[in-house]
Amino acid sequence: MLSNMRSRHVNLQLVGAFVMLAFALAGVHSMRACAQSMVASPLVLDGLGKETFTLDGPWQFHPGDDPAWASPTFDSSGWERLSAAQPWGKQGHAQLTGLAWYRCSIVLIAWSGGRAQDFSLLVPNVNDSYEVYWNGSLIGRNGRLPPRPVWRLSQPMQTFQLGQVRTGVLAVRVWKAPLLSDDSGERGGFDAAPLIGSSEAITTAAAADQFQWLRSRQLNFGVNLICAVIACVSFLLWLGTPSRWVLLWTAGFAIAQPTILLLLNAHLSLPYSLAMGAAQPVYALQDISLWFLLLWLLCLHEERTIGRITRICAAIYATGEVLDGVLVAVSWNPQWTARAQVFDAVLTFFSFLFQIFPLVLVGYALFRRKRFDSARWLVASLAFLDEMMLVFGYAVKQGRQFTGWSIADKIDSPMFFLDGNGISLTTIAAALLFVALIYAVYNSVREDQLQQEVLKREKLELLHASDRMRHHAEHDGLTGLWNHRVIVERLSQEMIRSIREGTPLSVILADIDHFKKVNDSFGHLAGDLVLKEIGNVFTQCLRPYDCVGRYGGEEFLMILPNCGIESALLRGEQLRAAAQSARILDGETMLQVTISFGVVSILRSQEGAEAVIRAVDAALYRAKKSGRNCVIQAESDLSIYAR
Ligand code: GH3
Ligand code: MG
Ligand code: MG
Repeated sequence: MLSNMRSRHVNLQLVGAFVMLAFALAGVHSMRACAQSMVASPLVLDGLGKETFTLDGPWQFHPGDDPAWASPTFDSSGWERLSAAQPWGKQGHAQLTGLAWYRCSIVLIAWSGGRAQDFSLLVPNVNDSYEVYWNGSLIGRNGRLPPRPVWRLSQPMQTFQLGQVRTGVLAVRVWKAPLLSDDSGERGGFDAAPLIGSSEAITTAAAADQFQWLRSRQLNFGVNLICAVIACVSFLLWLGTPSRWVLLWTAGFAIAQPTILLLLNAHLSLPYSLAMGAAQPVYALQDISLWFLLLWLLCLHEERTIGRITRICAAIYATGEVLDGVLVAVSWNPQWTARAQVFDAVLTFFSFLFQIFPLVLVGYALFRRKRFDSARWLVASLAFLDEMMLVFGYAVKQGRQFTGWSIADKIDSPMFFLDGNGISLTTIAAALLFVALIYAVYNSVREDQLQQEVLKREKLELLHASDRMRHHAEHDGLTGLWNHRVIVERLSQEMIRSIREGTPLSVILADIDHFKKVNDSFGHLAGDLVLKEIGNVFTQCLRPYDCVGRYGGEEFLMILPNCGIESALLRGEQLRAAAQSARILDGETMLQVTISFGVVSILRSQEGAEAVIRAVDAALYRAKKSGRNCVIQAESDLSIYAR
């Protein structure tokens, strides 16, 4: 997201200029005679003491490769002059790929005192692999050259020992990776001129440079760290709530840049094209995650057509990028380079068509006049800006091949530097879009959370309401006992169970004696109170697994599972006694009632509930006939009676 910084060049040039000025003031202008073997006029560095010198010229340059070019006796006078302070691309060699050589003749005059002094060379970042020769001998390399090129981006600078030999030819053999469609060719060769000086001075300069380099990476590192943290947090949150897809797409979007950074900087000695090839699908992951993020944030995910189009495009784009990654990776093999380049160019054209897909999504959302909150507006407009810059930049860059417009550079080139990091317009747009996305995702998740809480509350309320309704439907409003329908249903169920388990079942029907008189004498409210209290007395006297319900006006039906006739009669007697002894207070009036009971007990009876009720009703009738306030056993002819 944030491009590599180039402030080091400025510093090196400043140091170089300062040293040059010092030399001019010292009046050192004399050019010493060069060694016989060197045809090109050498660079004479006199009095090189604690200072370092920037070797920005005179260098000679030749594309191609010949081992003889390392030799100090080789006559390179016909070679092109090329500065080492700038990449080839900035000096008219943008399309140059493959191997090329630099040569520079040097005469080093040691610092006064005549002490034998070791010299060193400091080569700042070169984007390609290279070898350094001093007087024909290989003194070091960075990466590996063809046929198995290894490219090291992570090496910010390297130091090479020149020894005590003071006169010689410095030759550098550079390999520039094949130009791929996303490579403008501007890099290649030296990014900045190498430094020469005593080993001590070079060690100091390298340490300072290393420090600068690390500092310039701080912002980049910090941004990537934040992205990685956001990605991990989003992913973990998504695992907690898999229905919140925005969190997964945020993770995919945020993890791409740190992954690419790791891939290219992991000191893995990955071949150049392999690292770049592996990075292609990761770029696709970032783009596709952005599409789906927009789909959700712009509320388009519920629209089936646009959702389907996005998924199809994502599948094609991802496949294309994986294929492109493979092509880039195989391009390290010189046999396949040319073909890989052609296919890569074709694929890049198609992938560009997909890269502008966010414009389609934003445009569609605006066309459908979706109602957005401020965060969504921010995302929509920044995504639009970001993508428009991509389209414009791409069009101009492609057009430059024919027109030579330099405006394309302006889009990507730094507007200002922040802690050594160049900040361009695209950097700002991308950073703003990222922040807006995170803000909108946070907003959408919070909205979703609030909505879910409301839904949960409503669901709870509904459950309570349905519980209340079921209670009303099953219970008698006055006494709170089971109502007529439920108690009869329970009787049927208990009869079936009694048959299945072979256990006796007893049923008691109770009717308050002369209840009409209670109403007539004390009023219906007093009657109601009596009904409630008698209901309580019955509930307390029965076992927890017995059932009691209000069968009718002042009649109660009780079901006693697994209870024979003797126990049932005993229980009936207890109920009768408890009801009789109950003192019901209605204000200051003491109410007292007696109750008559009919009892029936069955064992494996095939009769229905109606027959049982009829039998127990008959028993109750006989109880009334026998003077009330008593418990009478049924003498019905139900097929099987309990003992
Ligand atoms: P018996 O001893 O023969 O059972 O005499 P009874 O007066 O109890 O019998 P009857 O069937 O003549 O009277 C029942 C009374 O119960 C009549 C009705 O007004 C009263 N009743 C029925 N449901 C309610 C109720 O919910 N509240 C009140 N207060 N009275 C009720
Ligand atoms: Mg009665
Ligand atoms: Mg009655």
